[in-house]
Amino acid sequence: MAPDENVDALRQAGLRVTAPRLAALAVIAQHRHADAELITEEVRDRLGSVSTQAVYDVLHALTNAGLVRKITLDGRKSRYEISEHDNHHHILCDVCGRIENIPCVIGEAPCMMPSEDHGFAVNEAEVIYHGTCPDCREAALAQ
Ligand SMILES: [Zn+2]
Ligand SMILES: [Zn+2]
Repeated sequence: MAPDENVDALRQAGLRVTAPRLAALAVIAQHRHADAELITEEVRDRLGSVSTQAVYDVLHALTNAGLVRKITLDGRKSRYEISEHDNHHHILCDVCGRIENIPCVIGEAPCMMPSEDHGFAVNEAEVIYHGTCPDCREAALAQ
């Protein structure tokens, strides 16, 4: 995303345009599935001193506004990506933490329905496949 588009995106989401928000959006666009630590480092590279708390606040605001999607992983750091509203899922390597996108199965949310919905109206399905990536499989075989 070009910087101007990020300015528009913030305005459309009703957020004030600030340097840390713009920097965070640029970093997340550049590093898909980055964790908060990496984003903090890169935002600091761009802006100089920014507190860790300030970056967390920015991530929180961007996620709440729907500009950024937060991928919460059990026992691992959350990752962030620009919301593309394409309902894609993720596959995670349990060994090294590599994460890749899996396209939505049918193209719109929810792309899979639960066998029992308990009377809920289902809006989306967020799926994380767990496995071992090719590099880690090769490393395991070489041992
Ligand atoms: Zn791996
Ligand atoms: Zn993704």
